[in-house]
Amino acid sequence: LTSKLPSVGTTIFTTMSALAAEKGAINLSQGFPDFKPDARLLEAASNALLNGSNQYSPMTGLLDLREAIAQLIHRHYQRTVDPLDDITVTSGASEAIFDAIAALVQVGDEVILFDPAYDLYEPAITLAGGVCRRAVLTAPDFHPDWQAVGELITDKTRMVLINTPHNPTGSCWRNEDLESLWQIIKDHNIMVLSDEVYEFIHFIESAVSVHKHEGLRQRSLVVSSFGKSFHLTGWKVGYVVAPKALSTELRKVHQYVTFCTTTPLQKALSDYLIQAPEACDALAAFYRDKRDLLRNGLKDSRFTLLPCEGTYFQLLDYSAISDEDDVTFCKRLIDEVGVAAIPISVFYQTPPVGQRLIRLCFAKEDITLKDATERLSHI
Ligand code: PMP
Ligand code: GLN
Repeated sequence: LTSKLPSVGTTIFTTMSALAAEKGAINLSQGFPDFKPDARLLEAASNALLNGSNQYSPMTGLLDLREAIAQLIHRHYQRTVDPLDDITVTSGASEAIFDAIAALVQVGDEVILFDPAYDLYEPAITLAGGVCRRAVLTAPDFHPDWQAVGELITDKTRMVLINTPHNPTGSCWRNEDLESLWQIIKDHNIMVLSDEVYEFIHFIESAVSVHKHEGLRQRSLVVSSFGKSFHLTGWKVGYVVAPKALSTELRKVHQYVTFCTTTPLQKALSDYLIQAPEACDALAAFYRDKRDLLRNGLKDSRFTLLPCEGTYFQLLDYSAISDEDDVTFCKRLIDEVGVAAIPISVFYQTPPVGQRLIRLCFAKEDITLKDATERLSHI
């Protein structure tokens, strides 16, 4: 058998969560909340199941949900989108990203992404026959060097895949970044795939979205995830917003990958969004408190904390503690300290030599975070 993805193994999230469970460690590795979503959502889901929303939904998503999403986008970004043509509901952001790449990247097309990058991008591009070109983000702030990005553009470049707030680094782009991106691509036939799953989780005033950039949004697919915004990573419901021409191509793939996303959960989300249009307004403040709890809990430890402007991930530099590579160090943390983290080298094409960084997820109950920081202060 010739593998289509010879360099791909099992994801680090599966590996680390399994190790954490096996060894009874506090799991701050894979990103998911350990607390419950709003009870109204659970009630809406159970009503949807009991009241008969159990068959296929329209391929593009329940219209009520798409209308509620259009309202949400208007509330947060003052952008008007057409629920019929511009919004497609998908089975998580993962499916949205995969569909977009499968639909729009042709064999030999070059896609620019950033190093480090979320782990599903590169395999999806490779399967489509595309070629990844990575622009380096450098610690501690991980902001793009736009001149270097511009130098990666060739006549084969078809897409730039961006992600802000950024997993795994927690950095957020500013308006200047979107403007630099726009200047680089505007005279070329280049699309943008903007992974904004942490759109409501940022801790700086100046965080930005492609939804607000007049030029970019005409060429972009913007991807969101209810998993992140409503603490429901296991529901796997997300959506893509894109102009009609791009949405039409994306839907050609979506209709054959899943046809549609789980109907009762779409119904629950639309009922909830109609009841609570303000549901995402307080998310940033909620996670800021958790970030600060984690950071304060580690201030007397031997870890150095990197800036965290968004997402629910905090990077720690462990070079004062060990010379081990990050995978070895994470395994030892599970065994000796009882805390599971993610080694960030796995997000790189070329991990920087000597960089010693791990990622902790702070989407956890305060008590979990206190327990974890207490343990981490003793290594
Ligand atoms: N993109 C990023 C940056 C993520 O962190 C995640 C998290 N799982 C996803 C996409 C996928 O989101 P979903 O679970 O909605 O598929
Ligand atoms: N996005 C989550 C993270 O970065 C993991 C999702 C997954 O397990 N695929 O931790």
